[in-house]
Amino acid sequence: MQPLAENIWINGELTPWADAKIHVMSHALHYGTSVFEGIRVYDTPNGPCGFRLREHVRRLFDSARIYHIQLPYTEDELVAACHAVVRSEGLRSAYVRPIAFLGQCGMGVTPAPQNMNVDIAIAAFPWGAYLGEEALEKGVDACVSSWNRTAPNTTPSAAKAGGNYLSSYLIGREARVGGFGEGIALGVDGRLSEGAGENLFVVKDGRVMTPPAANSILMGITRDSVIKLAKAQGFEVVEQAMPREALYLADEIFMTGTAAEITPVRSVDGITTRAAGPGPVTRVVNAAFRGLFTGETPDAFGWLEPIGAA
Ligand code: PMP
Repeated sequence: MQPLAENIWINGELTPWADAKIHVMSHALHYGTSVFEGIRVYDTPNGPCGFRLREHVRRLFDSARIYHIQLPYTEDELVAACHAVVRSEGLRSAYVRPIAFLGQCGMGVTPAPQNMNVDIAIAAFPWGAYLGEEALEKGVDACVSSWNRTAPNTTPSAAKAGGNYLSSYLIGREARVGGFGEGIALGVDGRLSEGAGENLFVVKDGRVMTPPAANSILMGITRDSVIKLAKAQGFEVVEQAMPREALYLADEIFMTGTAAEITPVRSVDGITTRAAGPGPVTRVVNAAFRGLFTGETPDAFGWLEPIGAA
């Protein structure tokens, strides 16, 4: 595979891509004990800016907290390290991937506290449209997955943890094998949850609806941004549980995520939304979101952090 980056920051050192290796006996490889983030840096008129970088780093610490993983850095230090990696790669726009994981801890699922060796890496590289350019413009054809999201009180959906992505993998894989662009999962109660790697929004009669925290979702930072931007545009936005058929009766559907940004959904299970692609509400919200990076939308919430400022 082609290297994505020149160097990767590992435990404080910039390490050439080819040397950025971990031991095969790492705990995370066997048991999924990693927590990670995805952060976008946008090329704005004020230079490269991290989008809600500090909130992402906070979520990394929150994910680690749930798993009793002590990160050997402060939040400020990891924010500064993200800046340093983007700068050293000379990137104006980037996807930044910090990951912390249990390394060599001895065998066994539950290492003794003194053996909880935590490694941290940060990579930054260019990354285009997650579900493809066409999906971004015309909408993705999605399906409801036969796989449910993890039940409450199993593996916590609020943690962005490596192990959770086995669920995402199954949902995404099944969708693609079936010829769909992405899979949408229900929770164990049959209510709408989220996409394999995106949060879900349904628009009906001008009302913008998204599943709440209780429906086994990751509390997406793009989701939160969209809620705030849509409200600022005058839309009614509600977090509410929805049945599966809300997808088939929707005027518009879109999915949100750092990688996916705002991706419209054109159809679900072969039933096209009334808008049959990006509808009027999706367009307005997307324009407000995109405008943050071109300067057309004022950064009213202070979400943009110039790279180099930390
Ligand atoms: N749900 C899942 C399962 C995800 O992997 C992601 C991507 N991080 C999201 C939702 C969206 O979260 P965010 O907007 O913070 O990237």
